[in-house]
Amino acid sequence: KMPLLRIENLKKYYPIKGGIITHTTGYVKAVDGVSFQICQGETLGLVGESGCGKSTIGRQLVGLEKPTDGTVYYKDHDLGRMNRKDVKPFRTKLQMVFQDPYSSLNPRKHIYEILAQPMLYHGISTKASVEKDILNLLDMVGLPRSVLGRYPHEFSGGQRQRIGIAKALSLNPEFIVCDEPVSALDVSIQAQILNLLRSLQKELGLTLLFVGHGLGAVNYVSDRIAVMYLGKIVEMGEAKEIFNHPVHPYTRALLSAVPVPDPDEREDGRKILMGEVGSSIEPPTGCRFHPRCPYATDICRQREPEMQETLPGSGHMTACPIAMTEEGRREEA
Ligand code: SF4
Ligand code: MG
Repeated sequence: KMPLLRIENLKKYYPIKGGIITHTTGYVKAVDGVSFQICQGETLGLVGESGCGKSTIGRQLVGLEKPTDGTVYYKDHDLGRMNRKDVKPFRTKLQMVFQDPYSSLNPRKHIYEILAQPMLYHGISTKASVEKDILNLLDMVGLPRSVLGRYPHEFSGGQRQRIGIAKALSLNPEFIVCDEPVSALDVSIQAQILNLLRSLQKELGLTLLFVGHGLGAVNYVSDRIAVMYLGKIVEMGEAKEIFNHPVHPYTRALLSAVPVPDPDEREDGRKILMGEVGSSIEPPTGCRFHPRCPYATDICRQREPEMQETLPGSGHMTACPIAMTEEGRREEA
């Protein structure tokens, strides 16, 4: 399969201003050298605690934020090197579904306007065909045509997210970043939206980056999963592999923090992540996870581990040499 999107050594540093004369006193290193590719038709899940940089990566992929360094390739086009005009047709192919759909829907416009305007502006639809196209969109996301004259505040969270998805689909995208699309919704609605995204992805051959903080939802929709910690990817591989055979101590801790329905199991089997999430202003030396890692050694505190394959050819990568040793594997079992 062809990679649709590829990022290379992506970085996003935000300057911190301070003092009487506003000068830069440091940087928040939200994303600190991330590389991966997403193949056509694939869903890559990006998981980690809040503040680890996962949303920032999503926003950089669709052009809402400019990388500090590194490259975003879309079908081998380096998007950062293209001028505004040339990049425009590419941008419509890269869309985003937000965690809070309300913030992306103009509260003064009814649904018809919200959906019609971008389609007309980008020449995706014409005055003559726009109504038909909108009805088709509503159909795809499971909303009745009666919503057209209503305003965003008149809808439930789940319906609003369906409108957000319709809006993202309206420009015929090839790729959509879904940034925690269900974490603001009632648990009872979450599965509906996840299933909708999954079936749309299949039906339309979409490529997705699914950003989430819990491995449960991410695993449900993803083909592959990348686990992020403080601006870096620490483990990546087939979703099944990551979920059933996690190698990195952080991934294992994340997994054991997945809520389990059986309360007895929770008491015994659930490990809670210990310690504070480190700071991305002054990330810990060496392995950034070392202050919270039960297996940390002196080497971990000194040397930053590189991503390496757990088994040759498996595509399962991790940035923890300790977990790959005999001892680490015994711990896992
Ligand atoms: Fe823990 Fe060391 Fe592995 Fe980092 S490299 S996760 S500190 S064992
Ligand atoms: Mg976020």
